Amino acid sequence: MKIVIVGGVAAGMSCAARARRLDASAEIVVLERGEHVSFAGCGLPYHVGGEIGSSEQLLVQTPTSLRAALNLDVRTGHDVVGMDPQARTVRVRTAGGEETVGYDALVLAPGARAVRPPLPGIDSPRVRTLRTVADAVALRGRVDDGARRAVVLGAGFIGLEAAEQLAQARLEVTVVELSPHVLPPLEPELAAVAAAELERIGVALHNGTAATAVEPGTGEDVVVLGDGTRLPADLVVLSVGARPDTAIFEAAGLECERGAIRVDEHGRTNLPDVWAAGDAVVSTDAVTGVRRPVPLAGAANRAGRQVADAILRHDTARPIPTSLGTAIVRVGALATAMTGANRAALAHAGIAHHTLHLHASQHAGWYPGASPVHLVVHFGLDGCLLGAQAVGADGVDKRIDVLATAIRGGLTVDDLIDLDLAYAPPFGAAKDPVNLAGMAGANVLDGTLRVWHAADLDDVVASALVVDVRSRAEFASGHVPGALNIPHTELRERLGEVRDAAAGRAVRVLCGSGVRSHIAHRVLTQAGFDSASLSGGMLTLRATL
Ligand code: FAD
Repeated sequence: MKIVIVGGVAAGMSCAARARRLDASAEIVVLERGEHVSFAGCGLPYHVGGEIGSSEQLLVQTPTSLRAALNLDVRTGHDVVGMDPQARTVRVRTAGGEETVGYDALVLAPGARAVRPPLPGIDSPRVRTLRTVADAVALRGRVDDGARRAVVLGAGFIGLEAAEQLAQARLEVTVVELSPHVLPPLEPELAAVAAAELERIGVALHNGTAATAVEPGTGEDVVVLGDGTRLPADLVVLSVGARPDTAIFEAAGLECERGAIRVDEHGRTNLPDVWAAGDAVVSTDAVTGVRRPVPLAGAANRAGRQVADAILRHDTARPIPTSLGTAIVRVGALATAMTGANRAALAHAGIAHHTLHLHASQHAGWYPGASPVHLVVHFGLDGCLLGAQAVGADGVDKRIDVLATAIRGGLTVDDLIDLDLAYAPPFGAAKDPVNLAGMAGANVLDGTLRVWHAADLDDVVASALVVDVRSRAEFASGHVPGALNIPHTELRERLGEVRDAAAGRAVRVLCGSGVRSHIAHRVLTQAGFDSASLSGGMLTLRATL
């Protein structure tokens, strides 16, 4: 059996390594266009900023180490430029000319290429993408040569990692993002927390606008934005997305969907004995069913491994699961993470759901160093978890990973209450934020808690009495116009005031984070009021405005 793999990084190399472990005698050839295989693509931004000092640290394996450890035939500088599915061959261009390589099984793991929008001046040498080790080394070289001002185009994961690192290297950094907020898949109220952190570390933001041109200059280029802003830069990082690198395979008859390879649940394509995995492949979203490529390293590694199983253990191979898109990014002192669907995706898919905001501490509030995990959780009307996002200085990864596991396992908010999570004061809380999300969710489902959302503020102010149950000092620091301030500890004695002020209208309660307003909501409901508590309180409201 001769297995030929195109692309020697996450999906391709995972497939090759697994194939070798399953079959000692197979001939396994990896064809990689670039200079390196098995490099740490996810580490590239950290070399730009100097956190990873040497680019050698990004080279996890080499063709020589892979030959020694796994007897793999890894050929760098081998660009696959064509395929003939009938003859079962690929055409390869190398420095020495072209050659044809035959296969019994072909695995396509070509990943994606950075998008280069056709803007005037985009080919200036000061404009760089960040996808390869050479890109990272070139950007690092610019920093070492004394670059002072950087513009990062695109505020997705890679753009923000680059921006953070360039700021850390003491460059003046501006990020430009077409969407209204940074990290477009993040809920706006959480993106606002990440944006504030970026500004704290000195990164300027231009949201809701795009670059229209780069004007090359002698000392610096100028990035021109759609809103007329002109940003001088001696370094421009282009991180506006990536496109599956599939054109040559599509031309040979491979079925693609908007450029990404269609595969079945085992990674099999429409062509005989041709499999595919990684960034170049269409995934199905586990929650919404939407089909799109999901460019994440974990998924690519796992899918590559499973394709090897499909080729060599076809009777027992497990299907490649649908995608949750679980992802995390560090922004300054904060981590920002997400799993499953966000509000926009749920709305687009027409999935009825509830949303809750929590700001619980990552560990017991009374233990030194407590800090909030700003958490948004979406769940269906049946209680099934659909998505979660979090931002915070500590403990974000734990909560999102637990919630990702819960979504994968089909758990409900009730199940979250029962999760037996590790606790001692430095690590968590006796009621972990995930348990609390379950409790609040269960309360919503059985009617114990009714919430209103910051997005409904205008309607609420127009039609209901807003009761702010924070302390007088908190109220004085800023409040919703027309709100009645009754600290929650006084509410039971002052229900008459609420009745008079409401004058038959509904009552909408709020506090700092949603905890005290929940207590107040219970008091009001049991006293006969039409009441609801603001999800996430003023913390969420302020981030939404
Ligand atoms: P790639 O890793 O892109 O590998 C494809 C390889 O195929 C490339 O080396 C390419 O040269 C080669 N190739 C393509 N076409 C041909 C051809 N015709 N002939 C020969 N060779 C070919 N994901 C995360 O989950 N977490 C992160 O923190 C994270 N950070 C990232 C940071 C950066 C800067 C980048 C660029 C990506 C990051 N990712 C991260 C995404 C992650 O790296 C990718 O999802 C993953 O590498 C995809 O693996 P892949 O094997 O499908 O493709």
